[in-house]
Amino acid sequence: MHPFEQDKLAEECAVFGVWGVEEAPILTALGLHALQHRGQEATGMVSFDGNQFYQHRGLGQVGENFSAGAPVLAEMRGHAAIGHNRYSTTGQSEFRNIQPFLTELAFGSFALAHNGNLTNSERIRSSLVATGSLFQSSTDTESIIHLIARSHRNETAQRLQDALMQIEGAYALVSLVDDALIGVRDPHGVRPLVLGRLGSGFVLASETCALDIIGAEFVRDIGAGEMVIIDQDGLRSEQIGSRQKSRFCIFEYIYFARPDSRLEGRSVYRVRKQIGAELAAESGVAADLVVPVPDSGVPAALGYAEAAGLPYELGIIRNHYVGRTFIQPTQDARVSGVMMKHNPNSEIISGRDIVLVDDSIVRGTTSRKIVTMMRDAGAKKVHMRIASPPTINPCFYGVDTPEKDKLIAAQMDCAQICAEIGADSLAFVSLDGLYRAVGEASRDRNQPQFCDACFTGDYPIALSDKSSDRRVSHGKG
Ligand code: AMP
Repeated sequence: MHPFEQDKLAEECAVFGVWGVEEAPILTALGLHALQHRGQEATGMVSFDGNQFYQHRGLGQVGENFSAGAPVLAEMRGHAAIGHNRYSTTGQSEFRNIQPFLTELAFGSFALAHNGNLTNSERIRSSLVATGSLFQSSTDTESIIHLIARSHRNETAQRLQDALMQIEGAYALVSLVDDALIGVRDPHGVRPLVLGRLGSGFVLASETCALDIIGAEFVRDIGAGEMVIIDQDGLRSEQIGSRQKSRFCIFEYIYFARPDSRLEGRSVYRVRKQIGAELAAESGVAADLVVPVPDSGVPAALGYAEAAGLPYELGIIRNHYVGRTFIQPTQDARVSGVMMKHNPNSEIISGRDIVLVDDSIVRGTTSRKIVTMMRDAGAKKVHMRIASPPTINPCFYGVDTPEKDKLIAAQMDCAQICAEIGADSLAFVSLDGLYRAVGEASRDRNQPQFCDACFTGDYPIALSDKSSDRRVSHGKG
């Protein structure tokens, strides 16, 4: 079943790569483990030891596939490796979509892992199939490999550039060939990719938390439209196409990235706390205490409580041993999933007026359940505060959001949503408040500093496939 038909949200994917270090597969397993929050349903790795490529891909989490001492990890060798975490469709039939892909091209073996989503891959795929390409997966990522295979340039990096000149969309890619590790970000830098050093080796990762886990030193973010080629001579950098204004995904700061990561020069944790402070300034309300919806609302709730001078209390306890709410396949299962995941701490809640802070409202499922839970636990008043503006548009750049008609804020105004979730009051942070929290004086209306299309509908990259039926687009990473 296609993910959109399952009507579920999904995390983005994670990419990781390492070059020039002993035991590259073990480091890659650790890096992928640190990036587990970006995708939990499948994982994979390709390594190279100077002679041979090794590959393992599997459904499930990193620990289930690459646990210490697992035969599969012991069999993978090399001084270089790349890895990928993916949300994916369930079922063995989708095994073929698990990355990294490893293919034999005319110039040798080529491995590729992708975080993001291409917006013209349907068109490219149709024309490739019409001229004889045989696709092995249903992902958008595979189009890049076919385009590389058809390039007549000499070097891998040039071939990859040829392919990238033909694609549109959001991507952070890591690629491994026998003589190089390559990392590249799309011209707007929508998805993150950072560079680290480990001894004399190099590391590429979606987030800095993956550098920390292996003791690598953060060097810098890969730039928008930058390709880095890492080989025996070191690292060189090239610009892909003409330079574009960076439009990093602002939702990485709100929800996706791990709070201990630094992306584009900002601490994710500090941004989240500051959003909470902006919320308190914009829509503060008389209350006894501030309660986060764990874990996604925690830093914003801390920032709110600090700014408002209110006590911060853990009024909801999260059970960490249930699957993510979003991996439930049906609406009914997801509803009970919310109950399984959170439990009220009645001792703290009963008889109090609370400010409940979460990062976002998408369909409204979580908020509705949690507000009800707070009332059942004896809360006198429940004021919901959301650390993002209303989500009114789907993402086409790597986040598998529901169609617009399932986004509650696309259907209702704030007062209606408040009534729908049963809160006493509801407020979202303003778009300008969000921009202030990331350190900008305001949003530049002509040339916004970030991709904020989910809140504004201002899509920075052409949506060439959008006019055709989106359900045939299977690629997400
Ligand atoms: P909903 O219950 O549909 O309103 O979803 C809102 C909840 O989902 C919030 O608590 C967020 O923490 C979380 N969330 C927001 N965006 C995503 C996403 N793309 N994938 C998974 N969870 C998300």
